[in-house]
Amino acid sequence: MRMAGNLLRNSLNAIRKGRDGVSADALLAGKVRRMSLSARLILLLTIAVGVVMALGGYFILRQREEILARALRNELQAHAVTLQLTLEDSYRAGRIGDAQRLIDHLSENPRVFSVILFDENGRVAMFSNPLEAGKIVESPDAQRVIATGAPVEIVRRRGGSEVYSFIMPIRISAARRGAFEISQPAEFIKADYARARRDIALITLALFAAIIAVVLLVMRYNLLRPIKELLGGAKAVGQGDLAYRVVTPSGGNEIAQLASEFNRMAESLAEQRLAAERQAEGRLALERELRQSERLASVGRLAAGVAHEMGAPLNVIKGRVEMLRENAGAPAEKRARNLDIIGAQADAITDIVRQLLTLARPFNLRREAIEPSRLISTVVELIETDAAKSGVKVEVIGNNHHRPDVVEGDLALLRQSLMNICINALHAMAQGGRLLIEVAPEERRVNGGPFVGLRVSDNGSGIPPENLAHIFDPFFTTKEVGKGTGLGLSVARRIIEEHDGWIEAANREEGGAAFTIWLPAIPDDGRRR
Ligand code: ADP
Repeated sequence: MRMAGNLLRNSLNAIRKGRDGVSADALLAGKVRRMSLSARLILLLTIAVGVVMALGGYFILRQREEILARALRNELQAHAVTLQLTLEDSYRAGRIGDAQRLIDHLSENPRVFSVILFDENGRVAMFSNPLEAGKIVESPDAQRVIATGAPVEIVRRRGGSEVYSFIMPIRISAARRGAFEISQPAEFIKADYARARRDIALITLALFAAIIAVVLLVMRYNLLRPIKELLGGAKAVGQGDLAYRVVTPSGGNEIAQLASEFNRMAESLAEQRLAAERQAEGRLALERELRQSERLASVGRLAAGVAHEMGAPLNVIKGRVEMLRENAGAPAEKRARNLDIIGAQADAITDIVRQLLTLARPFNLRREAIEPSRLISTVVELIETDAAKSGVKVEVIGNNHHRPDVVEGDLALLRQSLMNICINALHAMAQGGRLLIEVAPEERRVNGGPFVGLRVSDNGSGIPPENLAHIFDPFFTTKEVGKGTGLGLSVARRIIEEHDGWIEAANREEGGAAFTIWLPAIPDDGRRR
């Protein structure tokens, strides 16, 4: 009922808007399209039933009116025939008083309006309804009936209402013929008609109510509830709950089929997800295995590297020790030389162990604010002599980029890192060249934080492209035995990564290699003093 009220309100609103200029029909059509399913069904069914009931009611009423009119006429005719016989009897027997009594008697019947008796001239002789008959003196209709002897049936207005009249001839004596008119109000038909109309209207209203109730119930239990269930299912599945199953309504109708199809779909999705998860797990396990074997391989490489690097000095030591043991009586000078060699080889081993420890141990950084140019100049001091020996010209470009950035870190470790890179550059330019150490002109940003770069460029041999991926691996070296351990760059990288930075290595277009150390920068004014 509330819905019907809404409907009515909607329609009224639509009509009101229509008056403001927009077509009410178009608005109503738009509303119907946007209405809920139940409202639309109710509206359409109501219209259909309304039209059918209006047409059916019209025909039923028409028929009923006709039947009633006929019944009324038949009744009137029966009265008329009885009255004719009785009146003729009374006249024949000379008992005119009986006629008057009969007329009075008849007019007591509420369904008889009046009875008027006319003499042979068509003038009123007797009447039952003084009010009416008083106004009539002569009746042309009665005169015609008297003249022809044939009864007449007419409809006329009397006393403000419609009446059916029947005029019948009567034989007053052998030579004389009179007539009488018996009338019946048509009100009965009108009242009956109104009652029938009211009944039809009530039935229509009851039908409307039944339609609304049935539509609402059917929609609610057969459509809306399962659809709500399906919506809930779709939402749950959409949010990843593939175990969700909707309740399948009984009856096997389309909605039930849809619900079971939905459940089947969710099931197949769940299966697919399970398969995908299994696949991913398999991939993960494979990756884990791969990483494990990689780790094992790198441990093996490291062990091989250590064995290789330490093997040579240990062999030398062993040889010299044997020499000393076998030639106990050797001159002191020779013995001292052997001992020196043993000491130098032990130093080499110590150096390798120290570097290995640098790679493995946790750092305890002693941080301080360092200006890049200061770091560069301390390194230049350390390599100057070696550079001069190889005929390498060392150039420094300080921080002239108007960015007074400083880095924060452990000066000794950063120096070692930069040194390792510079020494490699010197090794690459054994026949002389130019070594450039500078603060990189460009600035890098990672996660919004600025990084300052220290770049070491040489014009030496450069790095073969196939080696680029390995130069930072421990014990990777291209140098001959005794020249390099392959630990310099891995130590340098470890130190820089401990400072939250990274190292980039590249070949230069003009020949040679360039290494850049990137370190997080702190603005000059923000540094701790
Ligand atoms: P090592 O210097 O002991 O060989 P590193 O780890 O320092 O070990 O270097 C690894 C390798 O990287 C070197 O053997 C060399 O082949 C290559 N390399 C490093 N720096 C340069 C450079 N500036 N130019 C050419 N090759 C380089």
